Amino acid sequence: MTKTETNVFRKTLEAKQNELQNANRAQPIEMEATSDDLDRIQQASDRDYAIGSLERNFSRLREVGEALRRLDAGTFGVCASCEEDISPKRLAAVPSAPFCIVCQEAADNERMAPSLELDDSLLATV
Ligand SMILES: [Zn+2]
Repeated sequence: MTKTETNVFRKTLEAKQNELQNANRAQPIEMEATSDDLDRIQQASDRDYAIGSLERNFSRLREVGEALRRLDAGTFGVCASCEEDISPKRLAAVPSAPFCIVCQEAADNERMAPSLELDDSLLATV
């Protein structure tokens, strides 16, 4: 990877990092006191949603941070699992990708497999 390419990825990742940090700040999780059951149910689901998206943001933020560290270490663009080069097309689409497409698919399949057998209703929420 050339220095110019590295700089482009660094800029992209730093912009993503800023965006995610701002998104996390913009989502305070609050509970208002209410005596209405329906309000409480709504609030609980709002809060679950906010926590869920906060968790997703944090894990993406961690991925972006790790990608920036790989840039510093000179291992950016190398699959963390099989150590093959990650395809430039994949990096352009997902600059924070830690794995090549083959390893990523293997990891996704592993994560998906148990829930497919356990409960079909989980699929509806994906
Ligand atoms: Zn790989």
